[in-house]
Amino acid sequence: MERIFNFSAGPAVLPTKVLQRARDEMLNWHDSNMSVMEMSHRGKEFTSIAEKVEADFRELVGIPSNYKVLFLSGGASSQFSMVPMNLLREKKRADYINTGAWSKKAIKEAQRFCKVNIAASSEDADFTYAPTQDKWKLDQNAAYVHYTPNETIGGVEFNWTPDLTHLGNNVPLVADMSSCILSRPLDITQFGVIYAGAQKNMGPAGLTIVIVRENLLGTTIPGTPSMFDYKIHADNASMYNTPPTYAMYVAGLVFKWLMKKGGLVEMEKINIAKANLLYDLIDTTDFYHCPVANPDRSRMNVPFTLKNTTLEGEFLKQAQERGMFHLKGHRSVGGIRASIYNAMPIEGVATLVEFMKEFASNHD
Ligand SMILES: *Cc1c(COP(=O)(O)O)cnc(C)c1O
Repeated sequence: MERIFNFSAGPAVLPTKVLQRARDEMLNWHDSNMSVMEMSHRGKEFTSIAEKVEADFRELVGIPSNYKVLFLSGGASSQFSMVPMNLLREKKRADYINTGAWSKKAIKEAQRFCKVNIAASSEDADFTYAPTQDKWKLDQNAAYVHYTPNETIGGVEFNWTPDLTHLGNNVPLVADMSSCILSRPLDITQFGVIYAGAQKNMGPAGLTIVIVRENLLGTTIPGTPSMFDYKIHADNASMYNTPPTYAMYVAGLVFKWLMKKGGLVEMEKINIAKANLLYDLIDTTDFYHCPVANPDRSRMNVPFTLKNTTLEGEFLKQAQERGMFHLKGHRSVGGIRASIYNAMPIEGVATLVEFMKEFASNHD
């Protein structure tokens, strides 16, 4: 069976090897004679899976021991409220960087809990760039600084990490890494909290991973429900309630697959090569256009338009005929978007680039 090249932004392509392994273990995981889906989350089988998933994730990302890793449900969208509930710590203000659709959603939720200072925004240029740190106007009284390192819809990525060391350890940097986590090496110590939904670059939908520095735990705002309290999840090793067990297991297979490929250093090289293939073609013809400022182009989500927008339907149709699916841009921005996460093989990108060349020469 030939699998499609799936350019969806999420839920997204998973490594074929991971799916095959999950298939092979579907009815009988490691001689347990049951499926991972059927296991008690507190039983010895799943406990051993969960411990390995966390250990592998920690090793892969390089997470220091003073950070907790939480395996939650609720999506990245729940984190938009959990972040202020857990991090305001009696302060009444927070800094947000507004770089597009996902930043805006995070801001909207935070505004329920505090005064949001938009420390920087790229709205003036239709969210096509990442504001450099010298342009940020941080609030002296902010409890934390939140940004979206990769805007999945706009295709804008911070290819640098903000530096808040001048503020001391007390103003944590918070990052929504839903669509870029595991795509490159990270220095975790620069962050207070990192969160990400799994369904883009880590595994199936239903799992959300939060990495949180220990000294930020235990100071939720009054009235915070238990399920929204990082400390309760941390104290219970993410088993305060039933975690998304099967999604954790599949994510664990993805972590093993990444380690085998050489880890995040190697993935970054591959991701740069894949993104360059696509951007180089877009830039060498005026048939295609990418609106995003060059240094801020996403390695994961590549948005572009056709000079003649009436050809978009034909473009998508012909792409599908060649096995390339879900290239339609987000409904809010239109155009084309190719999401090329870790699990998209370079052959997929090369096939797309060949098709784009041909389509341009046939329609120019
Ligand atoms: C997809 C996405 C979200 C929303 O994730 P859910 O798991 O659907 O809540 C949030 N932020 C970013 C950057 C995303 O790409």
